[in-house]
Amino acid sequence: MSYYWVRVALDVPLEAVFDYRVPISVQVVRGQRVIVPFGTQKQIIGVVTAVLTETDIPPEKQKDIIQVLDDLPPFSERWLALCEFAAKYYLRPIGEVILPVLPPPLRKVASYMGKTATSPVERLDKKAYNKQQKLEKALKRQAKHTKSIEQVSGQAVESVAEAGIRIVNVDKSGDSAVLANSTITLNEEQQSALDSIVNTREYKTILLHGITGSGKTEVYLHAIAQKLAEGKQVIFLVPEINLTPQFARLLEQRFVPLYGEKAIAIMHSGLSDGERLQAWIYMQRQETKIILGTRMSIFAPLENLGLIVVDEEHDASYKQQDGLRYSARDLAVWRAHQLQIPVVLGSATPSLETWQQTVNQRYTKLSLTQRAKATTLPNIRLINIKKMRLNQGLSPDLISAIDERLQRGEQSMIYLNRRGFAPVLRCSACSWTSTCVRCSVHTVMHQSSGQAPTLQCHHCGYTSRIPLKCPDCGNQDLSALGYGTQRIEEVLGNLFPQTSIQRVDADSTRLKGSAEKLFEHVHSGDVDIIVGTQMLAKGHDFKRLSLVGVLNADMMLFSGDFRAPERLFAQLMQVAGRAGRHLPDSEVLLQTEFPEHHLYQSLVHHDYEQFVANALEERQIAGLPPFAYHVLISAQAKELRDALDFLKTIVADARQALAAYIEDIRIYDPIPLKIVRVANIERAQLLIEADSRPVLHRFMSVWLQRVYHHFRNHKVKYFVEVDPLEI
Ligand code: ADP
Ligand code: ZN
Repeated sequence: MSYYWVRVALDVPLEAVFDYRVPISVQVVRGQRVIVPFGTQKQIIGVVTAVLTETDIPPEKQKDIIQVLDDLPPFSERWLALCEFAAKYYLRPIGEVILPVLPPPLRKVASYMGKTATSPVERLDKKAYNKQQKLEKALKRQAKHTKSIEQVSGQAVESVAEAGIRIVNVDKSGDSAVLANSTITLNEEQQSALDSIVNTREYKTILLHGITGSGKTEVYLHAIAQKLAEGKQVIFLVPEINLTPQFARLLEQRFVPLYGEKAIAIMHSGLSDGERLQAWIYMQRQETKIILGTRMSIFAPLENLGLIVVDEEHDASYKQQDGLRYSARDLAVWRAHQLQIPVVLGSATPSLETWQQTVNQRYTKLSLTQRAKATTLPNIRLINIKKMRLNQGLSPDLISAIDERLQRGEQSMIYLNRRGFAPVLRCSACSWTSTCVRCSVHTVMHQSSGQAPTLQCHHCGYTSRIPLKCPDCGNQDLSALGYGTQRIEEVLGNLFPQTSIQRVDADSTRLKGSAEKLFEHVHSGDVDIIVGTQMLAKGHDFKRLSLVGVLNADMMLFSGDFRAPERLFAQLMQVAGRAGRHLPDSEVLLQTEFPEHHLYQSLVHHDYEQFVANALEERQIAGLPPFAYHVLISAQAKELRDALDFLKTIVADARQALAAYIEDIRIYDPIPLKIVRVANIERAQLLIEADSRPVLHRFMSVWLQRVYHHFRNHKVKYFVEVDPLEI
C-alpha cells in the first residue's frame, strides 16, 4: 500500500511535531480534525496543519491516523492563520491554541465512540430536527383548536418553550424602551462616529472613546446593522459573561426579526457543552451573522466578517490567564488587519496601550463627549476620612446621602472591591491573624445570613470553621478586622431596616443562572440599595440609580503593581458612570484618606485625558509599557528555592549562549511572587523587557527552544506570558 503523511496539532504538553501516516486511499486536508493514536493506548483528536509527501520519522515509529472527522467543514486557511499567529506570538505550540478553542464535544474522542458511533454534530442536528417536527405539530394542533390569531401565537409560544427551543418573544420582554431605541436618531457625534466606521473599507483600528452613557452601544448597533445589511458577519466582544444577556436582548430584538434566530450566536464559558457545540456548528456552517461573547469568541470560525467590536477594550478580562495567555483585544486587531476590515475598540477609559496608539496615530480616535440622554454626569465628591469617625465603615455624609435616596425612592449602590465579611480575623491579645494553611495569605471571614460563619482562602478555596479561641494563645476574644461586602450589607441592614438590600458579588452569584436573576431583580427596581464588587461596575444600566458610594479605593492606590492606578481609575470611572444615567442630581461619594492625589483629582473632573497624560508620562520616565515590551516567565515548585534556581539557571544560559541576541534585552533578577505560596505551590517569576517587540520575540523564541530541550526539570513547572498584565 502507498501512503502519505499529515502533521497534526495536538493539545499535549509537548512541543514535538506529530506526523501520522495516511493510506493514499483516504483523503485528508489541512484544517480537518482527525483521531490519532497517542502514547501507548490513548486516542486523541487533533487538527491537521499540513499534508506531507515525506516525513523524518523512521518507518518503524510511524503510526496511522485512526479516523478522519468530516462532520463539519475543515477549518479555513484564514482561521488557521489566526491560530498560527497566536501560537507564534504567544510562544506556545499550535495545538495549545487550536484545540482548547473548540467546544469540548468536538475535541474529545469519547463523544465519537459510543455504540452508535455517530458524531456529536449529527446527534445535535437530529435533536434540532425532532424539535422542529414537534414544534410544527404543536402549531398545527393549536391552529385546529383556536380561531384567534393572537391566541394561536400566544399558545404556540408555550409549545415552543416546551419543545425546548429558546425563543425571543419581543412582546413579553417588557422593556419597550429598548425596542423604541431601534428608531433612535443618533446625535451629531454618534453619527459622525458611525459614518467613520461604516465607511471604512479596509483595515482600521478605531478607538471609540466615549464617556459612560454617551451612547457607544447605539453606535455599535447601528454599525452592526449596516454591516449585516451588506451581507457581512460581526464579532461583538464583551468583557464579562454577566453582560451577555443584556446585549443579547438588544441584538435579538433588533436583528432576529430581520435575520432569524440562528443569526445570533452566544459564546462564553458559562454555557453547557451542548450549547457551545450548537453555537459553534451554526458558526462553522456560516449560519451565524453575529457572535456575541467573551474573549474566546475572537476565535469564532466566521468567514465573512465585516466588523469586530470590542466593548470596554481596557478590561483585563480580555486577557486569558491560563493555558494560552492571549489578549482577545489584540487578536481582534490582528484579525481585522488580516481581513482588511475595521475593528472598533470602545471604552470610557481606554487602556494606556491603546491610547498611546492613537497618540502615535496608528489607531484612529473618535470621541463621544456628551451623555446621549439629557442627563448630566454625576457630581463626584471626595470625602476625606483621615480624621473622621466612621460609623462601621461608613461616613456620616454617605449615610445621609443614602437616606435621602431612600426618601426619594431612588436606588443607591455601595461599591467595595472585597467580598466576604471581613478580610481577616484577629486575636486582640496576641495579634494572631487567620492565615491559610496552604497559601501565604490571610483567610477571609465569611458570614452571611442563614449560613455558619467560615474562614475562606480566596486563592485556593480552603475553608474552615471559625476557631472558638485563638489557636496561639487561647484567648476567646477574636475580632473581624475591616469590611467586606457581606459586612456592609449587614451594617446597612441595621442602619436602614425595612429597606431592600441586594448584595452582588462572586458569592451571591455562584450558581449557574443566579447572576442573571440577581441582575434582573436589581433592574426591576425592587432593590433600594445594592452592595457589590466590580461585578456591578461594568456596563449595567440601572434606571433608578442616583447615588454611588465607594469605600475602599485607597487600597489599590498604593499597590506595588504599576498598572494598579490605571485599573483603579477605570474602575472608578465605570462605577461612577452607573449613577444618574436616567436621573438628574446624581452623586458619587468616594471615601479616601488621600483626596489630594492626582488620580482622584482627575476623577472628580471626569478628566480621563488628564489622567492618561499623567500616567503615560510616568510610564515613559520609568520605561514601562506601552514604551517597552514584556515577557514574563513564572516558575512553580514545591520549594521556592527550586523555582528560583530554575530561573537563575536559564538566565545564566541565555547570557552565555545567546550573547548575540541579548544585547537589547533587559533580563531582571528572578524574584518570588508577592503571594509566594498558593495551594502549597511556591512561585517565582522572571521579567524580560525590551524596547522593540521583534527583538524581544526573536530572542524569546530561540531561548525557549533551548530551555525546552536542555533544562527540563521535573520539580519545576513554568509558564510563559507575552504582554503580561500583572508583574
Ligand atoms: P454607553 O454604552 O456609552 O455607556 P449607552 O449606549 O448605554 O451608553 O447609552 C446610554 C443611554 O442613552 C441608553 O439608554 C441609550 O438607549 C440612550 N441613547 C443612546 N443614544 C441615544 C440618542 N442618540 N438619543 C437618545 N438616547 C440615546
Ligand atoms: Zn489557600
